[in-house]
Amino acid sequence: MELVDKINKLKKDKKAVILAHNYQRPEVQDIADYVGDSIELSKKAMDEKDAEIIVFAAVDFMAESAAILNPEKKVLLPSAGARCPMAQMLTVDEIKRWKVHYPLLPLVLYVNTLASAKAYCDICCTSANAVEVINSLNAETVLFGPDHNLAEYVQEKTGKTVIPIPERGFCPTHLLFQPEEVQILKLQHPEAVVMVHPECTAEMRKIANFVGSTSQMCKYAKESAAKTFIVATEEGLLHRLRKDNPKKQFILAYEGAVCPNMKLNTLERIYISLKEEKHVVTVPEPIASKARKALERMFEVRH
Ligand code: SF4
Repeated sequence: MELVDKINKLKKDKKAVILAHNYQRPEVQDIADYVGDSIELSKKAMDEKDAEIIVFAAVDFMAESAAILNPEKKVLLPSAGARCPMAQMLTVDEIKRWKVHYPLLPLVLYVNTLASAKAYCDICCTSANAVEVINSLNAETVLFGPDHNLAEYVQEKTGKTVIPIPERGFCPTHLLFQPEEVQILKLQHPEAVVMVHPECTAEMRKIANFVGSTSQMCKYAKESAAKTFIVATEEGLLHRLRKDNPKKQFILAYEGAVCPNMKLNTLERIYISLKEEKHVVTVPEPIASKARKALERMFEVRH
């Protein structure tokens, strides 16, 4: 039996759902029940009332959020080593240090943080709703972590003072994009629209026609009349963009923009994890209940 068939059989037998982040390998996206960004997927998991197991093909913090929001389900991360380096940049000790200096400021954390950090924040946000979340707060100054590029972008958009914690948290993959390389691609494809993720640098955002999260890029590409797009985000999204828009052309702004952690999830690892119910992600109480409140507050914000 082919590996894909074996996974599908196990999935049926065990009442499992496979969720794949937009940055997963093409073959992993193709076998998934749903493909999307981290919060879209956690919500999908909540909608899947009959599912007993969720295989979350992504990185650690996303599987943690799914476990927090779906405490009655077993959440599996196919590769135990799939850890987001940006999420590791903000520790609880670091948060406590900043809180000593700014005890009265609200703390907003990007969902790309570990549950232990989320438990200390007032509200979470994604790259899709960060502007709305900050605008929803009755405060002109906020602490924001861990991505300083997203913090800067949100500050530009809201006019509020957004203090990044740590000072220089970043996504190593999105930092690889360079405006000079996009300019060269633009010479070859003058008609192309440039889409840039807000985790990229300010210089990259400046040359963008559109700045947005992965889900916002998917929507924008579908609705736009443009036929060619230069895309500055992790290369996995291009598989989805091409599948959703077969008549349009998508060019990665830098060929090396690969998140090695996201790519640790292979079909083989999905199969083993599901077969042996291995790499179960759990978040201890009361961390889970505090982090859940921060995530639920985010869901209440209209966007
Ligand atoms: S792409 Fe960046 S933010 Fe996303 S998991 Fe990889 S390192 Fe983390």
